[in-house]
Amino acid sequence: MATKINIDETEERLISPIEHQGDEAFDSSLRPKTLKEYVGQEKIKANLEITIAAAKKRGEPIEHILLYGAPGLGKTTLAHVIANEIGANIKVTSGPAIEKAGDLAAILTNLEEGDILFIDEIHRLRKTIEEILYPAMEDFSLDIIMGKGPSARTLRLDLPRFTIIGATTLASLLSAPLRDRFGITHHLGFYEIVDIEKIIMRSARILKVEIEAEAKTAIAARSRRTPRIANRLFKRVRDYCEVKGDGKITLKSCLEAFKMLEIDELGLDLIDRRILETIAVKFKGGPVGLNTLAAATGEEMDTIENMYEPYLMRLGFLDRSPRGRVITHLGYEHLGLKMPGTDKLI
Ligand code: ADP
Repeated sequence: MATKINIDETEERLISPIEHQGDEAFDSSLRPKTLKEYVGQEKIKANLEITIAAAKKRGEPIEHILLYGAPGLGKTTLAHVIANEIGANIKVTSGPAIEKAGDLAAILTNLEEGDILFIDEIHRLRKTIEEILYPAMEDFSLDIIMGKGPSARTLRLDLPRFTIIGATTLASLLSAPLRDRFGITHHLGFYEIVDIEKIIMRSARILKVEIEAEAKTAIAARSRRTPRIANRLFKRVRDYCEVKGDGKITLKSCLEAFKMLEIDELGLDLIDRRILETIAVKFKGGPVGLNTLAAATGEEMDTIENMYEPYLMRLGFLDRSPRGRVITHLGYEHLGLKMPGTDKLI
């Protein structure tokens, strides 16, 4: 369960790693249930296998686990897999959903021995609520303040031994005291293309869709190495092939679908390309300040910074310099444009 953004433009953005309103049912039908089914992230899986086996052997709940990594990489899925492997109940909430101290107290007092509490976007917990979590995580106790002023008393409640699995995009977004209370931290990185291909094949198998090997490769190449995007693209291509063909996903129909969806061979959409083109053409390669770039492209500064730039930077098409954004020679090359000062296509 990742952040759901309800802004129309984001909603329509096919290659956004953020969960869309319609994703949940589709996502959950494809969600792996066991470590064996969970594709990739081999090191994390090997570590978790030990953690889970050791906890089972001792008959104790596992330590609190912090999972961090970009949206759509499988943090929620992994939390459910861990619960399933250990045979524990999992309760799901998120940082912004816990508004009052009482909300957290209610969740904690309803937990049973060995339960897992998954807190998505844990970096968005309010400070006052975070502080309630410290003794709960450390000593399995809950301090409740009764009354007000000089007559106020603190009542300490014992909680059952439970496990928190927290998910966040960046570990550094968490305050140090909260981060320190997780015994185990795992970073989920972007997937290898072969693993994304396995995820697509798995989805095709589950949904009983026939797919050509080259079509699978074409979808994987556009997935930004993110399972959620791979599955979403797979779904759109499947729809296209059902309507335009006999349902089988061929390379030809796949490429037609991507052309219609205006997604290029690296998974860039119109806005990604508009940002690059604006820097290249209008600002002669940059540097251009973020606010100027936002005004010129008609996008919000925040959206450019958090939704578009990370992938363009990962591809090495865009750089952040102290004076603003610049397009790199690889960026020019991708657009098929000449870099200023050179007379040839690079
Ligand atoms: P996050 O919580 O990091 O935003 P999710 O766990 O919701 O990401 O994953 C999004 C979707 O991607 C899941 O519903 C699942 O179908 C798919 N997925 C994620 N990781 C994997 C994986 N390792 N193997 C197979 N499918 C995966």
